[in-house]
Amino acid sequence: MQAVPAAFIGVVLFVGLMVGSFLNVVIHRLPIMLQREWHAQCAELRGESPPDTPRYNLVIPRSACPQCNHAIGALENIPVLSYLWLRGKCKGCGTRISPRYPVVETITGVLSAYAAWHFGFGFAACAALALIWALLALTAIDFDTQLLPDDITLPLLWLGLLVNMFGTFTTLHSAVLGAIFGYLVLWSVYWLFKLITGKEGMGYGDFKLLAALGAWMGWQMLPLIILLSSLVGAVVGIALIVLTKQGRNIPIPFGPYLAGGGLIALFWGVSLTQSYLQLLAAP
Ligand SMILES: [Zn+2]
Repeated sequence: MQAVPAAFIGVVLFVGLMVGSFLNVVIHRLPIMLQREWHAQCAELRGESPPDTPRYNLVIPRSACPQCNHAIGALENIPVLSYLWLRGKCKGCGTRISPRYPVVETITGVLSAYAAWHFGFGFAACAALALIWALLALTAIDFDTQLLPDDITLPLLWLGLLVNMFGTFTTLHSAVLGAIFGYLVLWSVYWLFKLITGKEGMGYGDFKLLAALGAWMGWQMLPLIILLSSLVGAVVGIALIVLTKQGRNIPIPFGPYLAGGGLIALFWGVSLTQSYLQLLAAP
């Protein structure tokens, strides 16, 4: 294994922490932006003028404490460190800041650094970072809202095909088939489940996410991703039903498990499938 320069891993760790801070904004604001968009569209369809709301996007307005409106300065916006320094409280009013912010920043930083170490300095590492960041945002948004926004899943799909035009993670041939079959597999499961039980087991966002993962890693990885995400999903689902009486009725988002399965496949998919095939081939 080639030695990966520590400087590269350090820079990526730093960038990852900063991106984690930005992902917190995306996770919080993107669902609100989508909701506003839908409300405006509904108003338009009803022939009303869209509600007049102040501008709201990933940049505007500036981050502020929801309790006291204290604007968050640059020094209070340093990933993880600011949270520790402020002891998890708003500088203006002392309201508790959710520990989720430093947790998202830490996970993003550590996973980014791991990708830098795993893939080494080069294009594959940079591409993997984009995939990891998108999967983290999707995971948190799906947990919060049971939504996997098209604004992330569809660009991720196109990007996967583009990245594999140069055979980065798989051949373009495998990537195209991966995107198509990734979508079709879950789409078929969805309709089978709906015909049999009359219920909707998952959403169209899940199909698009698996299509994107297929585009990034090729159709060969789809069985592994589905297996891993179903296993973890089943364990968590059964635990919820056992622990909470009405667990059966709580909608369990599937996106986080797909994203988790995708991440495992990204790092260890090739070696996992190879050892699996060796097991099959053994007499
Ligand atoms: Zn405050």
